[in-house]
Amino acid sequence: MIPYGKQHITDDDIAAVIETLQSDFLTQGPKIAEFEQAFAAYVGSSYAVAVNNGTAALHLGVLALGLQPHHKVITTPITFAASANCIQFCGAQVLFADIDPHTFLIDINQVEALCQTHKDAVGIIPVDFAGYPVHMEQLRSVAQKYGLWILEDACHAPGAWFTDSQGTTQLCGNGVFADATAFSFHPVKHIATGEGGMITTNNKELYEKLLMLRTHGITRNPKLLHENHGGWYYEMHELGYNYRITDFQCALGISQLKRAQASLLRRNQIAHHYTQAFAQCKHITTPFVAANVFHAYHLYVIQVPNRKELYDYLRTKDIFTQVHYIPVHTMPYYKAQGYKQGDFPIAEAYYATCLSLPMYPSLQQHEQDFVISTILDFYTS
Ligand SMILES: *Cc1c(COP(=O)(O)O)cnc(C)c1O
Repeated sequence: MIPYGKQHITDDDIAAVIETLQSDFLTQGPKIAEFEQAFAAYVGSSYAVAVNNGTAALHLGVLALGLQPHHKVITTPITFAASANCIQFCGAQVLFADIDPHTFLIDINQVEALCQTHKDAVGIIPVDFAGYPVHMEQLRSVAQKYGLWILEDACHAPGAWFTDSQGTTQLCGNGVFADATAFSFHPVKHIATGEGGMITTNNKELYEKLLMLRTHGITRNPKLLHENHGGWYYEMHELGYNYRITDFQCALGISQLKRAQASLLRRNQIAHHYTQAFAQCKHITTPFVAANVFHAYHLYVIQVPNRKELYDYLRTKDIFTQVHYIPVHTMPYYKAQGYKQGDFPIAEAYYATCLSLPMYPSLQQHEQDFVISTILDFYTS
């Protein structure tokens, strides 16, 4: 069986988890800060806050940025539901903007159009879909103009980068253009901790708020306490959550992070092999990648006619592809809020033909060649 994505666990990973299980801390121990510091160094941010999943990272992000029920936030319909749901968690309203037909990322011109018609928009949640980094410099200039914050959903893109107008490399989550960035460590993503997530930022005030909100809104910081009754004393200042991650998950994350760079290069190799193999097949459109972009290839998405027939045919050969994503605005929950089929024609046209092929570092060459030849057979026979 060949899935579309899969985690890779080594003996070193297992040893790291066992060592932590035998230590004094299962949670709230030293592995949390160690993972946070290693991850911040990996993406080039000043701060990182580890949490129990990527959805919690997004939720804490919008909370820390001050999202209120009367606000509106802009995001893309081509993403996992959590990118939009975190806005709903706060009782605020989601404004979808259609995608760019080449990159499948949120269309920055559509974002600007929404800003002009919705003066109550306060933020943007762009998504580095499939691992393609959003041009955050351009998005920042729109956000600046309309006074919006940016919470980047980089769950697909740890290690991806683009070069900005000065020729500087800008890694996803480095905190230069986005106020904060969310990552996920679900097993299909680049770095696996079982469940897990991270928020990165360069803003110290935001960082401290995230730390507090991760643990019930509680602080023990003597500088922040209103009173102090003794060593046991703490105060709850905000309505926070328990969004903590365990030490043994962070031990796994630290171990996985050591291979992240090599895994990214392997994902790029796999992508180039697919792109070359399909170059001569007129039925298959392979991903567009601009020259100033390093793609993280969480997903390798092709666009094809007869997508359902191809998907079913591949399943008969034990190749399990996937569709990313059913446009979020067409989900019954969002339809109940007034969105409907036809609202975002580019996203819907994309959905009609997209298919995510097997893409993970441990995919073997003969497995990939089997996937390629099976797809080419489908279109030539
Ligand atoms: C996986 C994912 C999330 C949610 O992450 P979890 O760790 O599963 O909660 C959010 N946004 C995107 C784009 C994702 O792919």
